Order: sequence, then C-alpha cells, then structure tokens
Amino acid sequence: MANHSLEVLISAEQIKDKVRELAKEISKDYKARTPLLIGVLKGAVVFLSDLIREIEIPLEVDFIAVSSYGADTASSGIVRIQKDLDQSIKGKDILIVEDIVDTGLTLNYLFENLGSRQPNSIKVVTLLDKPDRRKVKFEADYCGFKIPDRFVIGYGLDFNEKYRNLNDVCILNEQP
Ligand code: 5GP
Repeated sequence: MANHSLEVLISAEQIKDKVRELAKEISKDYKARTPLLIGVLKGAVVFLSDLIREIEIPLEVDFIAVSSYGADTASSGIVRIQKDLDQSIKGKDILIVEDIVDTGLTLNYLFENLGSRQPNSIKVVTLLDKPDRRKVKFEADYCGFKIPDRFVIGYGLDFNEKYRNLNDVCILNEQP
C-alpha cells in the first residue's frame, strides 16, 4: 500500500452526528412498526451496527451479499446475489442499509428483487452518495452525505478488503 495516501473526507465525529440524526428520523418514520433492516454485505456492516444502536424502536436485522467491484475501483455493472436473506420478507417493512450509492446499479437491482417478494414497504438508507456517477436513476430515502466522485475507504468501505476498520471516511489517493 506504499503507493497510496489517505485524506480524511468525513471525520468519525461527523459520522457519529449524522448516524444519530438518521436514526432519529427513522425512529420517527417507523413508529409503531417493526422494520427489518437489511444490511448489504460487507461495506454496510459498520454503518448498520452503529445505526441500529441509535434507533429507538423495535427492529429486526438480516443481511444480503451482492457482487462487488472486487479488486477494481471501477464498476463492473454486474449485480449478482451471493448470499440471500434468511427469511421471507412478505408483509414486512424493509429498510435496505447501504454504505454508498455510486452508479445506482446495486440498489436498483436490490429494490426490484426485494420488491418482487411482496414486502409491505421498501426504503433505502445510505451513508454516502456519489450522485455524479449514476448510470440509473436512483434516490435513497435517507442519505448521510453526498460526496464528490472520489474513491473512498474506511468505516466499512474497503480497497482490496483492507481499510474497513478506519473510523473516518477517507479518500484513497494513488501516488504516481
Ligand atoms: P453501485 O452499484 O451504486 O455502483 O455501487 C455500490 C457499491 O459499490 C457499494 O456498495 C460499494 O461496495 C461499491 N463502491 C462504490 N463506490 C465506492 C467507493 O468509493 N469506495 C468503495 N470502497 N466502494 C465503493
């Protein structure tokens, strides 16, 4: 990794405040319901674990894994389910928890796929959004931060499976 440098884009403190804010909004919107939060593996794990502890209503958790970019930092455009949910979502209020919306292909696919399983409702919460990179129209219902078109790591987001344990969201700069 010697040919990469890190630049903090969003600090741990800023993330903490935003997670609280999102959790407050979600707790209010889902009052008197028990939403099923679906974490998209692996990137959303850190965000989901912080988010659920700030939500003040009863909730359930499940996980789904979809194909990611692998070792590349560019979108392959291919979306495939690698690990499906453990349960039926029929009649449930689904909140998909994602780390970042980039081209929108992943969430567009998940929205359609999960939507076909007859849930009562589906919404999406994402920590980060890179609106400049959209290939399909997609807007998350709850969004933490809109960020520029840069490759970011930390707080669950990886580069070649590394850096997920950083507390800040950082830009990964490649050195010439
Ligand atoms: P989309 O299908 O919207 O293009 O991509 C969503 C997925 O791409 C995210 O869940 C994440 O795994 C990956 N991704 C997109 N942008 C970035 C980025 O800047 N950094 C990292 N580490 N992953 C990203």
